[in-house]
Order: sequence, then structure tokens, then C-alpha cells
Amino acid sequence: MSTITMRPPVAAPKGDRSFWLQSIAADAVTPPLQGSADCDLAIVGGGYAGLWTALRIKEQAPEMRITVLEADFCGSGASGRNGGQVHSWFAEIDILKALVGEDNALMLCRATADSIEELGYLQASGTIDMDLRLDGWLWTASSTAQEGAWTAATELCRAFGEDRFRALRRDDILRRTGSGVSYIGVLEERAGTVQPAKLAVGLRNLALSHGIVIHERSPVLEITPGPRPHLRTAGGTLSASNVVLAANAWLSAIPELHPYLYVVSSQIIATAPAPDILARIGWTDGASICDAQQHVLYYQRTPEGTVIFGRGTGGIAYNDRIDARFNRGSDGGADNVREMQRVYPELKDVPVLYDWSGPIDCTAQHLPVFGHLKDHANIFYAMGFNGTGIAQTPVAGRIMASLVLGRDDIWSRCGLVGLGTRTRLPPEPLRYLGARVVRHAIRRKNDLEILNRRPGPLTRFVAALAP
Ligand SMILES: Cc1cc2nc3c(=O)[nH]c(=O)nc-3n(C[C@H](O)[C@H](O)[C@H](O)COP(=O)(O)OP(=O)(O)OC[C@H]3O[C@@H](n4cnc5c(N)ncnc54)[C@H](O)[C@@H]3O)c2cc1C
Repeated sequence: MSTITMRPPVAAPKGDRSFWLQSIAADAVTPPLQGSADCDLAIVGGGYAGLWTALRIKEQAPEMRITVLEADFCGSGASGRNGGQVHSWFAEIDILKALVGEDNALMLCRATADSIEELGYLQASGTIDMDLRLDGWLWTASSTAQEGAWTAATELCRAFGEDRFRALRRDDILRRTGSGVSYIGVLEERAGTVQPAKLAVGLRNLALSHGIVIHERSPVLEITPGPRPHLRTAGGTLSASNVVLAANAWLSAIPELHPYLYVVSSQIIATAPAPDILARIGWTDGASICDAQQHVLYYQRTPEGTVIFGRGTGGIAYNDRIDARFNRGSDGGADNVREMQRVYPELKDVPVLYDWSGPIDCTAQHLPVFGHLKDHANIFYAMGFNGTGIAQTPVAGRIMASLVLGRDDIWSRCGLVGLGTRTRLPPEPLRYLGARVVRHAIRRKNDLEILNRRPGPLTRFVAALAP
């Protein structure tokens, strides 16, 4: 039986970690795997997806012995580095409907809305302090080309009787965000922001309190499939009846999954706290805000007045080799600084103290996929969150639990299970070269459109080739 070789992450040095991780001094608290051990379920990856899967399964099958193997520490991946924007899948209901049909799309969107309420409960009950602020999500346009980006989703929501979004005018946006750069948009009310690393660490603590075993600093190097697969790390071997691969973008190293996954980087900056300036311009609450550029801008302010400003860079690595540049770029977040100062000229003299990056696990349909490897019915995977995971991974946990426990239910039957309906991406070197050309066109299109200028037909054609 052929061995599956993993390609573990390059761990970020402390100074390159996200503002979120550094501000709570997040690190490993559990020992690496040593020697040989066994369990019923081994989970590779201690991010939101792995931890929610562990928790959902423990809830339904308390007797199951679950071990999580995490390469660095829980939350060191995308889960501790993201923009902290919490919103449901209703914004993607049109693409969900196209992939999984009406009923399934509605069920999945509602499930993410329930996840947001569940996060609210975890926060309110003191189970996980994640600084959750359900002050809404503003999905806006800052140029004519972006106007109406939300129309397909909002009209479908209305047709389904789900009045999830409210229209925003220029003065609403200015009053909420303190910036007049975006001038039209929609608001999802039951949405908002979190401190993402606090959520990841909180899920780790919750998992430990439920008897889930976690070994951090335990990158899985190889998996030998079989009735009881063996997972080898530098210090030990774990055997299990079932395996869940919840290793996000790093799953692109697995040949069977690689054709369906491409990895792009997103970059974020964090400023020194500037509460007085933010109070003066009227940006006071915990809403999440984004515009509708193809390389979307996403931002929030923390309760202390730190401004977090993120942007998809479209940066791609050859053969999905996720190197140190996916931890932190070399330009100090120059692009984000420029964009932040365009949206908030008042922040021009506020120092940027942190910049970092993270890999985004993308699929052609922009929706995650769940299932098991073709020849190994006991090795499952969850991947392709496409940069939207905080309210989506709790749902992923339900789907994974049903798959692992062999349940025939709405989760295991949902249209996100299986690669059959998914688009295969071109092989290398075509994939890398194509992505570079498309990225260049998208950046040019964005730069022109933000000035309300229309890009030429070739630029528009090439930019539209992005999956
Ligand atoms: C920069 C950025 C901004 C984002 N912004 C938002 C946002 O604002 N809102 C939102 O909802 N979502 C956002 N996302 C997406 C969200 O963070 C992810 O969808 C979510 O964290 C995915 O969770 P995960 O568990 O799949 O991945 P991860 O958190 O990356 O967890 C995977 C884990 O697997 C581990 N691993 C990898 N290989 C191995 C191995 N061989 N052995 C052992 N362990 C391994 C990694 O160390 C990692 O900890 C953003 C993502 C990024 C990168």
C-alpha cells in the first residue's frame, strides 16, 4: 500500500506571527507525540476545521478516542492569522445553489447562521472569550465596477424568504465606518468580528477539557494507509482506525487532492492602537467591513483601536509549495498600507506594527469539499474554505462527524461531499504560469476600476479567467 507523503508547514518565527497570536502570546501547550500510540480517530491539523471536527464527534460518540496532531501549535495556521470577519454563507448562496441545489444551499446557509449564534453562546457563557462583537458585516462598493456585487445573493435570499441583508447608503456607511470611500452596500446584521487566535486557542482548550488528546509540534510526515493507518511524525507513530486530514492549504501536497486545490496568499497589517482618531471619525463598533474588489479588502477595528486591514494578494507558489513568504512577505504589507491610507487618510501617521500573510485553500467553485480518499475509505479530508471559515468550519465539523461516524443524514448527503462535481485545475507548470498572468490582469483591473476607469478588453478577458 503506497505511503502518503505530507508537506508540513514552514513554522513562522515568533516575530513573523500574526498580531492576534503575538498579542496573546499563543504557543504550544501540549507535548509532541513521542513513541507509539493509538486511538480511534487521528486528526491532522489543529485549526478550526480539525478542532470543530474533534468536538462534534466527541459530542456524538463520547467513547471515541481522538488524537489531534498539529505541526506547530493550534491556531498557528490560517485560524490564528485571519481577518476575524464573521459572516454566514448567505453571501454565497448563489454559488452554493449552483453547486448543490436550492434546498441544500438554504440548509447550509442557515447552518452557518446557526454557527454564528453558537459562537455567540460560547462567548456569552464564558466558554470561549473570543472578543466576539456581533455588530454586523458591511459588504460595500468603493467604485462603480463593484456596485451590485451582492445583488445575486441578496435577491436569492429574498426569493427564499430569508431577509438577511439590509441596503446601505453612503451616509449609513460613513456613520458606521468613518470612511466615505465606500458609498453603497448591504449589511448582514447577525455577523461581526472576533479575535481569531483567541477562538482557536479557546477551541483547543475546549477540546482538551473534553478528553481529546492533542500533540502540538508534531508534523505528520507520512501516512501509511491500511485497516489501521499509521501516521509518522519525527518523534513517534500514531495508529488509528480513521484519519481526518484537516490541514488546510497544506493538503495540496496530496496528489489526489492537488488537482482540486490551489493556494493563494492573503496579507494583513495591524496598526498601533489609535482609538482617539477612530472615535473622531466615528468608527467605533466591531463590524466587519469589506469592499467588492476581486482582491477583496477586509477590515475591522479591535476594541482597543488597532486597525486590521487585509487584502488578497493573489500571490501563488509554484506547485503549491507554501514557503516562508506565506508567513510574512518582504514588503512590510506595502500594498495594504497604501489601501488603508486610501480608505482612511486620517491614519497616515499611525504606525503599522505588524504584517503577516497566510495561505488560502481555494477550489474552482469557491466552496469547500469533504470526503474520503478514493482508495482509502477510512482517510477523510476537509478542505477549500476559500478564505471564509469562521462560521463555516463549525458546519464542516458536522459534515465530517457524519462521514466519520458513517451516518446517513443531511450532512453526509449534502452536496459539498465528494469531488465528483468539482472542477480539476490545470497541472503545473500551466497552473502557475496561468495564475501569474491572471493575477497581473486582476491587479491592473482593480487599480483602474478603483479610479472608475474601465480596463481594456484584454485585461477584462484575462481577469475573468480566474476560477
Ligand atoms: C490571511 C487570511 C485571512 C482570512 N480571513 C478570514 C476572515 O476574515 N473570516 C473568515 O471567516 N475566514 C478567514 N480566513 C479563512 C479562515 O482562516 C480559514 O478558512 C480557517 O482558518 C480554516 O481552518 P483550517 O483548520 O482548515 O485551517 P488552519 O487553521 O490552517 O489549520 C490547519 C492546520 O494544519 C496544520 N498542518 C498542516 N500540515 C500538517 C501536517 N503535515 N501535520 C500536522 N499538522 C499539519 C497547520 O499547522 C495548521 O495549524 C482567512 C484566512 C487567511 C489565511
